[in-house]
This record gives sequence, C-alpha cells and structure tokens, in this order.
Amino acid sequence: MSLRLKFNLVLACVLLVAAAGTGLYVHRFLQKTAIEEVQHNSQLMMHAAMAIRDYTTELVKPHLDVTLAEQFLPQTVPAFAATETLRRLQSRFPGYEYKEAVLNPTNLRDRANEWEERIIKDFRDGRADLKKEVTGEVGEGMHRTLYVARPITIKQPQCLACHSTPAAAPPTMLKIYGDKNGFGWQMNETIGIQVVRVPMFYPLEKARTTFNTVMTALAGSFLLLFAVLNLSLSSLVIEPMARLNRKLEDLATKDFLTDLVNRRKFFERLEAEMADTRIKKSSLSVVMFDIDFFKRINDTFGHDSGDVVLKATALRVRELLRSSDCAARFGGEEFILLLKETPVDAAMAMAEAVRARIAGVPFDSVGHVSASFGVATWNQVEDAHALIKRADTALYVAKSSGRNCVVQAKDAL
Ligand code: GH3
Ligand code: MG
Ligand code: MG
Repeated sequence: MSLRLKFNLVLACVLLVAAAGTGLYVHRFLQKTAIEEVQHNSQLMMHAAMAIRDYTTELVKPHLDVTLAEQFLPQTVPAFAATETLRRLQSRFPGYEYKEAVLNPTNLRDRANEWEERIIKDFRDGRADLKKEVTGEVGEGMHRTLYVARPITIKQPQCLACHSTPAAAPPTMLKIYGDKNGFGWQMNETIGIQVVRVPMFYPLEKARTTFNTVMTALAGSFLLLFAVLNLSLSSLVIEPMARLNRKLEDLATKDFLTDLVNRRKFFERLEAEMADTRIKKSSLSVVMFDIDFFKRINDTFGHDSGDVVLKATALRVRELLRSSDCAARFGGEEFILLLKETPVDAAMAMAEAVRARIAGVPFDSVGHVSASFGVATWNQVEDAHALIKRADTALYVAKSSGRNCVVQAKDAL
C-alpha cells in the first residue's frame, strides 16, 4: 500500500469520525435549542394568559359589578378574557393556541377534546401532580405541537355562584348559555385545564436547515483540508522522499567516479538476467577488462589524471553498449560488462570493439592507454560467481599474453 493511500485512509477515517462526532453534537444541540425555544414560548403564552386573567379579575370586573346585575358580560370572566385575547394572536402566530378546556363548560366552545380530557382525568385521578404543569407533544408533521397544561381547580366559593345549580346562577348568564351546561361544580374539584399549544414544526425545521448548512460547510472544509493536505503531502513529503530515495539508490548502486553501476548492483543484475536467460533459453556473456599499467599512469601523471582516464574509459564503453547491456566498475581500474542475448562470438566482437575504442584514441591527459579483456559466455549451469571467475581467469591470460588483447574463457569443467 502506497504512503499516499495509507495517509488518505487514515485521514478519511479521522475526518469521518470528526464529521460524525460534530454532526451528532450539532444535531443534539440544535434540537435542544429548538425545544427550549418552544418551551420558552409556551411559558410566555401561559404567563400572558395568567396575567390577562388577573387583570380581568382585579381591574376590570369590579368596575362592572353593577352592570352585571342586569346584564351578563362574558368579557368579565377571566377565562373568557384570556381565551379571547390570546386568540387574536393567532393571525400573526398561526398554531399558537390558548384554551381553557373544561369537562363540563358553561360555554360549549371550551369543551375538552379527547387528549385534553385525558390530561384532566390524570389530574382528577391523582396521576398528575396538581401543583405542577404537565407538558407533552400532540400532532404530527406540520401540526406537531408542544403543550403545557395547568389544572383549573375550584378554590374560591364565589365561583360556585355561577356553576353550582341553575337556580343559583345569575339569570342574565342563563339567558346567554342556558341551564344545561357548566353546573354541578364542587369546591376543590379540578374541572379542566389551562392549556397552551406552541407549534414545533418551524423551530425544528429551522434546526434541520441550520444542521444541513453546518454539515455542508463542514464537508466543504473537510474536502478542502483533504485536498490541501494531499497537495502538501506531495510537495513536502512524497516528492522529497522520492528524491532522497533516488539519491540513496544511486549511492547504494552507483560508482560515484564513473557513474557506472557498482559491483553489488552488477551481481543483482547478473542474477536477474541469468534467470531471464534461462526462461528465454537465450545466451548471456560477461566481459571483464582491466586497464594496463594503470599504476604507472597514476605514478607518471598523478592520481587525478588516473581518475580522468577511468571516467573517460567508462564513457567510451557506454557509447558502444546497447541499452539492454550493463557496464559496472568492478574494482579500482577493473570493469565488467553484462551482454544480454549475446553468444560468445558476439561477445568477443564487442570486447574487441571496446579494446580498440580504448587503445585506438589517445586520452587527452595521458596519451595512449590500453586494456586487457577476458570473455566468458554463460553455460546455463554455473552460478554468477563461477561465470565471473572464468572471465577473470581469461583476463589474467590476456595480461600474461602481452596485454591489450581479448581472450575467450575456457569452458567450465
Ligand atoms: P596491470 O597491467 O597488471 O593491471 O598493472 P596495473 O598497474 O594496472 O595494476 P596494479 O594492480 O598494480 O595497479 C592498479 C592501480 O590502480 C593501483 C591503484 O592505486 C590504482 N587505482 C585503484 N583505484 C583507483 C582510482 O579510483 N583512481 C586512481 N587514480 N587510481 C586507482
Ligand atoms: Mg591494471
Ligand atoms: Mg587491476
């Protein structure tokens, strides 16, 4: 697996975990905030209703008591005043509702519906604490609302003036509402609930939109981060590392003076080519050569001039070789050539060409230089060391035969 792939897999995992974590946190936070906003609004409505009730009881009704004896004014009833006032909000704030839902109301408009009845019964039967509000949700989708309900319990005896029996009720009230509903209430009886409903759809929809925006922005930022980190990875890590690797590879495999491959790399190449040659049932030869009287060149012209000869020799060899061949500096002034798909005759000819190229043209700094050659063709059986040994032995023979010549190695025993 490449470094970039590994890096990207780790990065993708980290970013996915970060996105999932952030998404979860943001989603919870937005939902909580939306619900808190709904709860706040419901409390505001409930307290507004209570304020209107108190205002009606304390500041409106006392002024109209005289009139009430002759004419019943529903506007002086706290429940009526609160319901009517908050109903006016609905045109501006659809879905916001206030109701005084009663099991047996005087005004049939206030009759509790099914779920309100259930809550009233919870209060009456002791399943809900009379001192606490009850909250919950009703409806679905766009009609999903949060409700807050408080019990309406008869605490003041004057309430029973209108709601005990029709005989005790003011005739002016009976005239409007009749004598069938809203009677029989008892002291300390929970006869209904004040209930506020606040829509949840819009705050939750707002939370959803905010969530989508945040997540889109986050995904965009992560994509940008991904791209920037990848570019940085290329320019700051992968490319410098590749350059360094190439340098290390050069240092490990090349001869710094002649730029030919070194002895270690040559063995690697030779073994690989031997395997290939065996598969292809082809031929392979090596040519080993050593510059004649090189010590004398060093002694006469200096070590630097000797180096120049080594470099120039490498260049001349390179010019003659095919791209599939390989030339290596084997030791001090000793070189070796690997000739692919080359039988012995062709190898001898190549060695002769190299010999002539070295000996034929004088070297600038030192004049004429010659080299002696040993040529060995692989017998498909021996190992790399044995093959080189045979070429080396042939080279020895060339040296002892007067130098500046090419000698073919003897067949392996
Ligand atoms: P022969 O014809 O028998 O090969 O004689 P020769 O003088 O070439 O052989 P010998 O082994 O006596 O000397 C080789 C010399 O090559 C000795 C060494 O100082 C020199 N030499 C080895 N490596 C380098 C190098 O990198 N640069 C230079 N300038 N000289 C080198
Ligand atoms: Mg020599
Ligand atoms: Mg030598």
